[in-house]
Amino acid sequence: MNKTTPPNEQCVDIEFDKQHLWHPYTSMNNALPTYGVVSAEGVELKLANGVKIVDGTSSWWACVHGYSHPKIVAAIQQQAQQLSHVMFGGITHRPAVELARMLIDMTSKRLTKVFLADSGSIAVEVSIKMALQYWQGKNQPNKQKILTVKSGYHGDTFAAMSVCDPEGGMHTMFGELVTQQLFAPAPNSAFSESFDPQELSTLKQMFKDNHQQIAAVLIEPIMQGAGGMRFYHPEYLVALRTLCDQYDVLLILDEIATGFGRTGKLFAYEHANIEADILCLGKALTGGYVSLAATMCSDKVAKGVSDSPAGVFMHGPTFMGNPLACAAAIASLELINQQQWQAQVANIEAQMKLELAAAKHYQNVVDVRVLGAVGVLEMNATVNTAELQQQFVKLGVWIRPFANFIYIMPPYTITNIQLTRLTDAMKVVASQISLPNNDAAFVSHG
Ligand SMILES: *Cc1c(COP(=O)(O)O)cnc(C)c1O
Repeated sequence: MNKTTPPNEQCVDIEFDKQHLWHPYTSMNNALPTYGVVSAEGVELKLANGVKIVDGTSSWWACVHGYSHPKIVAAIQQQAQQLSHVMFGGITHRPAVELARMLIDMTSKRLTKVFLADSGSIAVEVSIKMALQYWQGKNQPNKQKILTVKSGYHGDTFAAMSVCDPEGGMHTMFGELVTQQLFAPAPNSAFSESFDPQELSTLKQMFKDNHQQIAAVLIEPIMQGAGGMRFYHPEYLVALRTLCDQYDVLLILDEIATGFGRTGKLFAYEHANIEADILCLGKALTGGYVSLAATMCSDKVAKGVSDSPAGVFMHGPTFMGNPLACAAAIASLELINQQQWQAQVANIEAQMKLELAAAKHYQNVVDVRVLGAVGVLEMNATVNTAELQQQFVKLGVWIRPFANFIYIMPPYTITNIQLTRLTDAMKVVASQISLPNNDAAFVSHG
């Protein structure tokens, strides 16, 4: 294949792709296999060879209402005709205003200001910049460190990398460009077990020793996603909120993966009944149709930022508040507001608990855990993503394992039968797999 091969609507030029296109976390020397997808509808992806497979990933946890949803598609089409994009500097539009109103209504009371960002990682960058500028506005410019926990994942840009798990993440390979942050142990008590207050001792000591340098705590509430697929106890968050108040530290919650129903509550912080000072949203915000994220903050934070020497918040991307993305988000949130997700997620949770339980006894499975619409088999070693991917496609499903995890986060609209196909496939693959004891140097959510 060369560069002049004409595109063909029916087929995907896999060979050209392999030669010229980067994929997430891949090598150009040794490209992992990719599958051409030509369309998707409901919970099924249609491959270039005509085969339809059941999606267990919601396209990296975003596509919660399924693909080609008529409401979201219509909203995007209509918006494209009316106003696809206009700069947000000095201009505003109905989709941005309406989306902000919806987000303020849906989230906890304290969150009243909305910054629309282009992607999750950028929403995290924005949250960190807000925290730093807040303390500048409070005349405490020495508060510049972010306290976080191990096993976290917050994105791939530089500030986001600085708060990802320091071992599994990307700290070592970019040297001093990745800021050194403060890492407490990962929350330890599991979601469904009893809370052990002992686990807070290091965290408390870190607050005590460093609070004068700490601008904010940044954490994924309840579920640590790409950093470890772990569900931790709500009491941990309650304690964290208390410590933040006690030591005058902002609390940033990264709900990019957990937001909009995934863990069984609309937002994961509701499990703990706490409020964030700054909240990051993304992934499912547009129902997974277009990239969009949001960083929300309180009046207090907004005032501090605006009182800083800069006098303004120092961020403003070209495509900020893109109307197409806002229109998709409004349509998706209207679907969320119809509340069907509650029963759907509860059913998915119950069915996964039932159907995945048997995997506890498999030789290579060390843990089976389910929370909301997330089902995880933790394996005793790193899995071969490409190899397992191939087995899953043969079984008619799209599941993309990483590190030690074979997991699913299906669209909420999945049927019982489709979900059984996913859990069956997980069990088949997990029971047959023979794992080399391979300590992969670098582990990512790719
Ligand atoms: C995916 C994710 C991000 C990064 O979002 P992108 O849109 O991929 O930049 C940040 N935080 C969490 C918790 C995520 O799951």
